[in-house]
Amino acid sequence: MSKKFRVGILGATGTVGQRFIQLLEGHPQFELTALAASDRSQGKSYGEACAWRLPGEVPQSVRTLRVEPPKPPLDCEIVFSSLPGDIARETEESFARAGYAVISNSSALRMDEDVPLLIPEINHEHLALLDVQRARRGFDRGFVVTNPNCSTIALALALAPLHARFRVEAVVATTLQAISGAGYPGVASLDITDNVLPYIGGEEEKVETESQKILGRFEEGHIESAPFAVSAQCHRVNVTDGHTVAVRVRLARRAEIEEVREAFASFTSLPQELKLHSAPARPVVVRDEADRPQPRLDRDAGGGMSVTVGRIRTDNVLDYRFVALSHNTVRGAAGAAILNAELLAALGRMKAEG
Ligand code: NAP
Repeated sequence: MSKKFRVGILGATGTVGQRFIQLLEGHPQFELTALAASDRSQGKSYGEACAWRLPGEVPQSVRTLRVEPPKPPLDCEIVFSSLPGDIARETEESFARAGYAVISNSSALRMDEDVPLLIPEINHEHLALLDVQRARRGFDRGFVVTNPNCSTIALALALAPLHARFRVEAVVATTLQAISGAGYPGVASLDITDNVLPYIGGEEEKVETESQKILGRFEEGHIESAPFAVSAQCHRVNVTDGHTVAVRVRLARRAEIEEVREAFASFTSLPQELKLHSAPARPVVVRDEADRPQPRLDRDAGGGMSVTVGRIRTDNVLDYRFVALSHNTVRGAAGAAILNAELLAALGRMKAEG
């Protein structure tokens, strides 16, 4: 039995931090040994500091861990970061510089040229950027790998099978995003009850640019973004968990609707081949019922790690339309980062010191 990696969470008391703790409980490769949050929580036990919002109790193994400042050194080898964007850049870089593997949810470094924006099923070859990153930033053993924005993940996982087979030429995406995507306490109840908010700061740009980077190609030390145009409109809706994305696409190659459906349904990739612990058997689950996907019914597909695609139809303006849905704090955040770490371990890019 190989040694477990010792892992820490930055932003451990937040919405994503709590999901990390839930998903890491009993993980075969990762053992949670360090937690960090703001000065509001530092010095307290996790049980005291955290207002736990997930069903069930705070896992016994973390209840008595002391919450520390998000600064090296921490008693771990891997740092999962779910810090607010404004403090993430400096903090994550300081951990990477100090030799930690940093696997981040935050937006701060995602679009930096030398930082992989990783979805293991789509662009594992982008990890070659880590050599560029080390050389450019003077990191020794440490590095930063990011996962995309929670809506981008649903969109990119749905586009990947189409792009591989038919080449995507244009994308129009309209998101309906859950309240938990705004963290805790997030959106005021008086703003979101009986309402739809047609603005989420910075979100449309993130969905547009991140999708192009994720589906781009690693060429001569950099990522050449995918050349298709993306137009995104993002909305906050009164749903607790699960982001829905209504998508229209134009394809470069002609495809019958059965071929489009088959491309989604048969999509598997390296994480499935490697049987990574958090990899769903089917990254994209196709539903044929007229009224699916729905957040309440489909967000937990594949343990929250599958994207559910339904309503696949020909479109009167572009070629095809469909609706994609995924769990924003699992596949859209903590689960995505854990799968990234599992891939890095499987590819030998991290070694447990024990
Ligand atoms: P959240 O619920 O507001 O939690 C924020 C966390 O960061 C808390 O643990 C908080 O600690 C800590 N924190 C805040 N200010 C800090 C500071 N100055 N120094 C150290 N720690 C600080 O937010 P969240 O939803 O978990 O989001 C965290 C990050 O993940 C954000 O960058 C967000 O964009 C990204 N993300 C979120 C989702 C989602 O679905 N929610 C999805 C993908 C990515 P205290 O409790 O001590 O204040």
